[in-house]
Amino acid sequence: MECIFCAIVKGEIPATKVYEDEKTLAFMDINPATDGHTLVIPKRHVENIYSLNEEDGEGIMRTTLRVSKAIKKALKPDGLNLVQANEKAGFQEVPHFHMHIIPRWFGDGLKPPWTLSPGDMEKIGELANRIKKEI
Ligand code: 5GP
Ligand code: ZN
Repeated sequence: MECIFCAIVKGEIPATKVYEDEKTLAFMDINPATDGHTLVIPKRHVENIYSLNEEDGEGIMRTTLRVSKAIKKALKPDGLNLVQANEKAGFQEVPHFHMHIIPRWFGDGLKPPWTLSPGDMEKIGELANRIKKEI
């Protein structure tokens, strides 16, 4: 079966679009977490963050900035979250890279996805070293 977001890009299935440029498209999520929940995708099929190149990534962030600022002006949310899911363990459902723009209001009922508790500084340093080696 064809990718649902590629079908939206091609106009084969409808979407409520808010912005597009050469490389990206922004449209409203059909299961909005809050009012104004918008998705930003690359027009090119890219499964997740690991297959997104830096040029596509720049385009995604440019469009995300534009749409976020428009949402702030238009809807006047109290806050806003960017959420980006990769792979099953990261809650990715649609296998075409997408950035969620989720406007937030006090009392909207959404919960933080993690709680803060102090980490082991030795372990944090070791993990940082492992990451740095791969950059
Ligand atoms: P994920 O869990 O992969 O980060 O989120 C996928 C998102 O795509 C969900 O928020 C879901 O509501 C949205 N979505 C899935 N199918 C469609 C569709 O056909 N049209 C639109 N506009 N959004 C969709
Ligand atoms: Zn796709």
